[in-house]
Amino acid sequence: MEHVDNKNPAIPELPGGVRSLLLHTCCAPCAGGILESLVDAGVAVTLYFHNPNIHPRDEYQQRKQEQQGFAAKLGVAFVDADQDPALWFAAVSGLEQEPERGMRCSACFRMRMESTAGFAASHGFEVFATTLGISRWKDLKQVNEAGLAAAKAHPGVAFCPFNWRKSGGSQRMVEVSRREGFYNQQYCGCIFSLRDTNRWRQQRDQALILRDMTEFDRFSKE
Ligand code: SF4
Repeated sequence: MEHVDNKNPAIPELPGGVRSLLLHTCCAPCAGGILESLVDAGVAVTLYFHNPNIHPRDEYQQRKQEQQGFAAKLGVAFVDADQDPALWFAAVSGLEQEPERGMRCSACFRMRMESTAGFAASHGFEVFATTLGISRWKDLKQVNEAGLAAAKAHPGVAFCPFNWRKSGGSQRMVEVSRREGFYNQQYCGCIFSLRDTNRWRQQRDQALILRDMTEFDRFSKE
């Protein structure tokens, strides 16, 4: 098998030295720097967009379309793994009041990593990874636990638990985001994170993030 000559410490040595990677992406701002580093190193990346957690629908479309556009710009394959958001709400049922980095986020990561691992197994990818852990708002350990657990269900598929923040990865993420003029997200993605961000803002007399909350009314247990 052909190996990648990886001299860039900001990207991982892929397990087994493989040169193709299925990369779950949460959004263009998180993926931008990672993607450019991987492409520069000659890794054949396929992006996998599976994020039924992002609400409301127009927020989801905006994040997806931005990621799709950047993938096209770099000539990177993009898999649109759209899904009924009701499945996500079912996966986090009972965890609506959890804080960010709590049990709801573990369930959210698990769902997205299980989908990615399944796609990897059925489409001949030996290794998958996710951009989720590059955000300083996320618990990297929580993200990697979800990826490693998802890989276990698929013999022959490995999860790459890389810390994308190191070796200048965080800085590169910011630089690429600014250069590309990516949309500045105001909350993690789900309507519960929108609710909590707005509560935080309200306590500080800051302007609220205004979104269509129909889905919140439909699924919230409050
Ligand atoms: S806060 Fe973010 S990671 Fe946590 S459940 Fe919501 S969308 Fe998922």
